Amino acid sequence: TTIGVALREAAARWGDALALVSRHQAIRWTWRAFDAEVDRVAAGLLARGVKKGDRVGIWAPNCAEWAVIQFATARIGAILVNINPAYRVSEVEYALNKVGCSVLVTAARFKSSDYLAMLRAIWPAKVPGLRLAVSLGAEAHDGFLPWDELRAVPDEAALAAAEAALDPDDAINIQFTSGTTGLPKGATLTHRNILNNGYFTARTLHLGPDDRICVPVPLYHCFGMVLANLAAVTSGAGLIYPAESFDPERVLEAVAAERCTALYGVPTMFITILNHPALATTDTSSLRTGILAGSPCPLATMREVIDRLNMREVTIGYGMTETSPLTTQTATDDPIEERVGSVGRVHPHAQAKIVGPGGETLPYGEQGEYCSRGYAVMLGYWDDPEKTAEAIDADGWMHSGDLATMDARGYVRITGRIKDMIIRGGENIYPREIEEFLLGHEAIADAQVFGVADEKFGEEVCAWIIPRPGAALTPEEVRDHCKGRIAHYKVPRYIRIVESFAMTVTGKAQKFEMRRIMEAELS
Ligand code: ATP
Ligand code: MG
Repeated sequence: TTIGVALREAAARWGDALALVSRHQAIRWTWRAFDAEVDRVAAGLLARGVKKGDRVGIWAPNCAEWAVIQFATARIGAILVNINPAYRVSEVEYALNKVGCSVLVTAARFKSSDYLAMLRAIWPAKVPGLRLAVSLGAEAHDGFLPWDELRAVPDEAALAAAEAALDPDDAINIQFTSGTTGLPKGATLTHRNILNNGYFTARTLHLGPDDRICVPVPLYHCFGMVLANLAAVTSGAGLIYPAESFDPERVLEAVAAERCTALYGVPTMFITILNHPALATTDTSSLRTGILAGSPCPLATMREVIDRLNMREVTIGYGMTETSPLTTQTATDDPIEERVGSVGRVHPHAQAKIVGPGGETLPYGEQGEYCSRGYAVMLGYWDDPEKTAEAIDADGWMHSGDLATMDARGYVRITGRIKDMIIRGGENIYPREIEEFLLGHEAIADAQVFGVADEKFGEEVCAWIIPRPGAALTPEEVRDHCKGRIAHYKVPRYIRIVESFAMTVTGKAQKFEMRRIMEAELS
């Protein structure tokens, strides 16, 4: 089926149940109200000449309108283009031109940035293909259509005709990857790709109309728009948006006030929540499950999520934007050892294999590159057949760039990124292993280990460390802690105590950025 039809079915089945709460906007919609709002915006897009296959961008932080435009574009077959709210003028210009957006929905302001002013600087001169810019701000602005005026009285016949022309295998969404390892790439995804991924995720979590998912992850990324929004529409669970972007206090408030049963996040978000003083006075007893995904989860964090946040059925998911995103997930009743150590088993209708350097499938237990195949694999990178061919081979296998092992029962362990592996004096060093070790130190809240260029050894090991609040920690102490406990060549040569890491908006540490900073300082 298509995403628009899935929403109509949700409205028919769970009409009066809560669908979406945007707490910072004081919006509360039932499935019926949400569906009706989507119809108004879909009708407005049609009335302004938006057709199937046209690219419609959204450049805004989390808000109710984000979900509305997601479903409204899907309902008429326009391709939604997710634009990172942290992008600035040149990046937006690149993204809009790269995929040829004819319509853009933009926030007016966010975090003291004036989005309309940024856009005015490039539109129309530098983005000539952009015909229409819609502002989510209240007032009318020169050239920008206010969101309220985009909404139109639904023309049932026109909407039905648009819907009849859709196919589940149509491209419906272009999502840029996080940019953890370099420039983001635009993955082109279909209804079948992402709607099914939402469905299987909801099934794994046993979500139903009594559940409420707290969504602190960005909607512009698949974690929010697929694993939350599309899991909700296929299960009847309600969506709770605590704030425009991640804010631990708002998350805790939302969990308690809305009695959320599920909480999503990347590990760094959970670490921040677990370290927040408000946790001690927050009632999190409603929580049952959730997803930790996006980057490796330290074992200690997982234990605390279960013990202190009461998320006894929490799962770990692993995937990538290019695979809609999840291809493996732990089960809610997997033994705790599996849920802290592995990323679970392959999702229904997905296949996985681990391959060696020559492309050969490796036996259980051996480390190699994780590859996946099945309904979830993207159509390709937008307008980039070369990169697509590098990623998806002739047999349809998506090569992840991640190192992994699989055991005889099918549990997958992610051991790092091929690009992050440090080769020091011919010795392969896996940063993940050192990070896990460092996190065992009671004064260390988070750690990132990466290689920096070194004349003598080719690469040297560098660690950036965030101490626990109030802990006084010095590089010497960290070094002493390592000595004798891990092999000498793994002991970080450079150790830096920091307050934060270079991060993607999806909350992932950008090692290439930290490496750049360190190498500039060392040279
Ligand atoms: P880019 O491809 O632009 O460098 P990215 O790969 O981080 O960025 P995403 O598609 O958002 O962009 O993230 C997918 C990647 O995130 C995976 O390839 C993997 O490296 C990592 N990842 C996702 N989930 C997990 C997990 N549970 N454990 C470890 N790593 C994970
Ligand atoms: Mg990637």
